[in-house]
Amino acid sequence: MKVLVIGAGASGMVAAIKAQENGAEVTIIEKNNKVGKKLLLTGNGRCNFWNANQDLTKYHSQDRDIMEEIIEVRKDDVLPFFKSIGLVWKNVNDYYYPFSNQAVSVVNVLKWKIEKLNIAVHLEEEVLKIEKNQKFRVETNKGSYLFDKVVIAMGSKANPFTGSDGKGYELAKKLGHTINKIYPSLTMIYGADNFYKDWEGVRSEAILTLIEEGKAIKEEQGEVQFTNYGISGICSFNLSGLIAGGLDNKKEEVVSLNLVPWFKGSNQEFKEYLDEQSKELANYTCGEILEGFLNYKLVKVIFKRAGLNSNKNWEDINKDKIIAKLRSFPIKVQKVGDYEKAQVCRGGVPLREISPKTLESKIVPGLYFTGEILDVDGDCGGYNLGFAWVSGLIVGEAIND
Ligand SMILES: Cc1cc2nc3c(=O)[nH]c(=O)nc-3n(C[C@H](O)[C@H](O)[C@H](O)COP(=O)(O)OP(=O)(O)OC[C@H]3O[C@@H](n4cnc5c(N)ncnc54)[C@H](O)[C@@H]3O)c2cc1C
Repeated sequence: MKVLVIGAGASGMVAAIKAQENGAEVTIIEKNNKVGKKLLLTGNGRCNFWNANQDLTKYHSQDRDIMEEIIEVRKDDVLPFFKSIGLVWKNVNDYYYPFSNQAVSVVNVLKWKIEKLNIAVHLEEEVLKIEKNQKFRVETNKGSYLFDKVVIAMGSKANPFTGSDGKGYELAKKLGHTINKIYPSLTMIYGADNFYKDWEGVRSEAILTLIEEGKAIKEEQGEVQFTNYGISGICSFNLSGLIAGGLDNKKEEVVSLNLVPWFKGSNQEFKEYLDEQSKELANYTCGEILEGFLNYKLVKVIFKRAGLNSNKNWEDINKDKIIAKLRSFPIKVQKVGDYEKAQVCRGGVPLREISPKTLESKIVPGLYFTGEILDVDGDCGGYNLGFAWVSGLIVGEAIND
């Protein structure tokens, strides 16, 4: 059984290892001059490769049921697989990293296993065309080959500098698949106002509520990075895919920030709390009182946007206005970061077009898909690599049966 795996990224390398172990004769074709180029960038170079909390709400797909079925079946096999190829890891609040804290360790354990198994790896070779007759005829910039089975592990079009430039979608389409609309995800949020320079550089914990057409549709909590264009950071990244889809459908998207996540009571109770504080801090301005729990740049922005003077006493300002800004500061979204800046893509080959047990195409027998080219994406926290490993394991084990 001659198998071609297109792409030596996360999912392709795992699929190739498993398929060769199961007796297939595997070739990998990779357009980069090395394997695992994107993996090296993950987790800020540390590679957050897994999450102990396999909460399925962290994964997204138009075919939710099928996605859940796929992840459930192999999720317990991911860590044993990495153990079997020599990786030692650590668990930091459920986020898994290689113990070395370096993504290159993950790349290398995969690379050494590929070498030990004598899998043929063609680097700096780009697949341009796939045709299916009896066998698959695959054309590259260097030649033409025949294979019994083909795995498309070409990634999405996020971060194209690492090789995944969207070509996989084109090849899948030419072979008869449809593609669920693609959006950039896990990327920054650009606001529509022009005051963002005033809070640039601040990092502060907040609760973010995504409001689409006036209706709250998702909430995230964590550290927000305030930037000169809007906001960034993990919790805002996790909203970006939904926002990209909403904006594309001409919906109004607003991210409302609760800048005092530590206060759990109602607005009335918060007012009472601040009344008490102002009695304790009798000769303080209200700006000074707020600086006890909020970065001074954010305090300035709050007062400016509320049209109030921070040098006044607490008793002399419009308390409701300030409390509203502190607990639901609105950012009207203009756009999200583009594919160059996104970590992943939402959308891709629909799961209903593949068999959930093997990830084999229902349209072209012998054709398989793994990883991000499929319509599955995850939140930050190791879920995207999680799906890459799970799908690679499934295909690698099924392809030679
Ligand atoms: C900056 C950044 C940080 C990230 N951090 C994390 C993280 O910490 N945790 C996490 O879970 N996820 C993270 N991700 C997401 C994760 O890296 C991807 O979801 C994952 O790599 C997808 O795996 P894949 O196998 O589908 O595709 P890829 O890893 O993208 O691999 C696809 C491969 O196919 C090759 N290829 C494409 N077209 C061709 C062609 N025509 N011919 C030959 N080869 C081709 C590409 O060169 C590439 O090597 C991050 C992503 C980025 C960009």
